[in-house]
Amino acid sequence: MDSNFHYYAIKLLACKAGFTEAQAQKIAEYSQFIDDYDRTGRIHTDTPPPAGISYVKEDDLYAVESVTTGFSPVTNAADLLTEDFQRKVVVPFHFILPNKLTEDNRNFVAIPARLNDGQVITRLMEATYREFSAGNRLSDKILIAIGCMAHAFSDTYAHEGFSGFRTEANDFEIEQYVQYDGAGYKDFTEPERKIGPVAYSTLPAIGHTTIGHTADYTNGMFSLKHKSKPDVYLRRVRNNYEYFMKPLAELFRYFQLFTQIAGNFDDIIAKFKQGFLANEKNAAAVWSATDGGIVFAYDKRKIYDRLYSQKGVRSVGSSLGGKYRITVYNLTSEFYIFNECAAKIRREAVGV
Ligand SMILES: [Zn+2]
Repeated sequence: MDSNFHYYAIKLLACKAGFTEAQAQKIAEYSQFIDDYDRTGRIHTDTPPPAGISYVKEDDLYAVESVTTGFSPVTNAADLLTEDFQRKVVVPFHFILPNKLTEDNRNFVAIPARLNDGQVITRLMEATYREFSAGNRLSDKILIAIGCMAHAFSDTYAHEGFSGFRTEANDFEIEQYVQYDGAGYKDFTEPERKIGPVAYSTLPAIGHTTIGHTADYTNGMFSLKHKSKPDVYLRRVRNNYEYFMKPLAELFRYFQLFTQIAGNFDDIIAKFKQGFLANEKNAAAVWSATDGGIVFAYDKRKIYDRLYSQKGVRSVGSSLGGKYRITVYNLTSEFYIFNECAAKIRREAVGV
């Protein structure tokens, strides 16, 4: 799914489920930010992290692991090829398995999650609800967790049948791809075949790299066939425009647990049918028109700015005797909340 779903649809959904607009904004921002937070490695700070946060000391600095949740097929192409990156980033946040990763289910694929189904992601969401019930406060920690988990939950629908690892089972190709524009379906098979997978053309079959983003578009419909074993892997046909209402209906019920506001998703489904026709360029305008008064604005740089800022550069000694330079950051409490939430999802999903 793209921001049309992860940010825009989730913001509208959260507002309609009874969260205040500020709360809905935070939930939706983190639902989308999971795709955008591609910082890898350690972040250094000269201020001791809060209790319970793990770090290593490097000189007099505190080095905290940045739990990467998103990636770009261009800048992270080399990372994506590694099993470690697939396990730590691609699988837990975008292709989460029904159960914690083990040697035995290594080749399993994402299966659409439902409330109370016992999947890892739904159990995490239930734990977040219990934590909320205990304190009865919609703290930033709770809202950020709802957003991050809504992302992984929704992706089990978009990425159904695919694995976040590199595997032959992912090796599908686009047979046909059409988009609904509100009046009818238009064929985009050729452009999608050419342009869609091109960003990933240097990558093997990890996730849905071989079919570009056809699995993610909110107004798309595709049929796929397996490249080498069409007899083993059945042809896949899906209409995202209809299908993506399912995760929204599930999440609507989940959101209502927190707000205790009554209402049926079916009564507001038309708004999402309208919003799903948007594209990345006109999304803010199209989604605003679905429900007057709600402001839609997503800017990943603003979220990054809320997480950390550069404080200076330090020369420290290495164990080999030389000096090297480290950038020192101010890490905010929002950074620690987000990073811990991502670490928790990763731990439960893949055990690291
Ligand atoms: Zn994703």
